[in-house]
Amino acid sequence: MAKYRCPGCGYTYNENDGDVREGYPPGTPFAALPEDFVCPDCAVRYKEDFELAEA
Ligand SMILES: [Zn+2]
Repeated sequence: MAKYRCPGCGYTYNENDGDVREGYPPGTPFAALPEDFVCPDCAVRYKEDFELAEA
């Protein structure tokens, strides 16, 4: 699965791990995150800003 990085703070969303703290279980594809997803770390970058970090 892929990883996506926030260009603002470097937070990386790993599809394998999800983000349990934010309510996304392991294996949740980035594409399945809500459209209003914001970076959990900096809260200023939206889903569309994230960059593919590793496929
Ligand atoms: Zn961020």
